[in-house]
Amino acid sequence: MPPPKRPGSDCATSEDGSATSRQSSLIEALALAGWLRDAPFCPSCGGGTELRQAGWSRRCLACGREHFPRTDPAVIVAVESRDGERLLLGANANWGGRMYSCFAGFTEAGESLEATVHREIEEEAGVRLHALRYVASQPWPFPRSLMLGFRAVVDDEAAARPDGQEIIDVRWFTRAEIGSSLDGEGPVGLPGRASIARALIMDWYEERA
Ligand SMILES: [Zn+2]
Repeated sequence: MPPPKRPGSDCATSEDGSATSRQSSLIEALALAGWLRDAPFCPSCGGGTELRQAGWSRRCLACGREHFPRTDPAVIVAVESRDGERLLLGANANWGGRMYSCFAGFTEAGESLEATVHREIEEEAGVRLHALRYVASQPWPFPRSLMLGFRAVVDDEAAARPDGQEIIDVRWFTRAEIGSSLDGEGPVGLPGRASIARALIMDWYEERA
């Protein structure tokens, strides 16, 4: 007999932040449904297509090419100070300045993930990075992203400044401030529990908490 489940655990991450199997199935279904809805025609010749492999591929009825669901890579990075004691977060203009999070952006055509991280952080927060390392990923099918989470160390803390458009403020937070904000006691709001942004913040926080 399976162990009793916590209320609401079907659509939540587990305590260690990993996705439950039901959540994985839901995300997979959303991703596939999005592709089936948005890409009914052949991207090569515009012809009609027929579904194959139970909907996991489409074959063009005109040119015969087979097509598969696409995923757009995006990076998200937690930037720490050189001594590892502070974390740089940004306030996105869409959040009205009430919430701070890690920096993120889409990978451009022909770009490596590493290049995306360096470009996005320099654009959004004005800083250069070193000691970049991959941490974890999270599928985000809205509509078809895969978030690849990194951590990195800043070169020059004093250089941090917002781009003024997408990011309206950047701020260095102490470990105590992050701990208190994770507990919902301020000074700022942080991303929700199901997000990889929060997992990256937790990863940094718990290292020396
Ligand atoms: Zn075609």
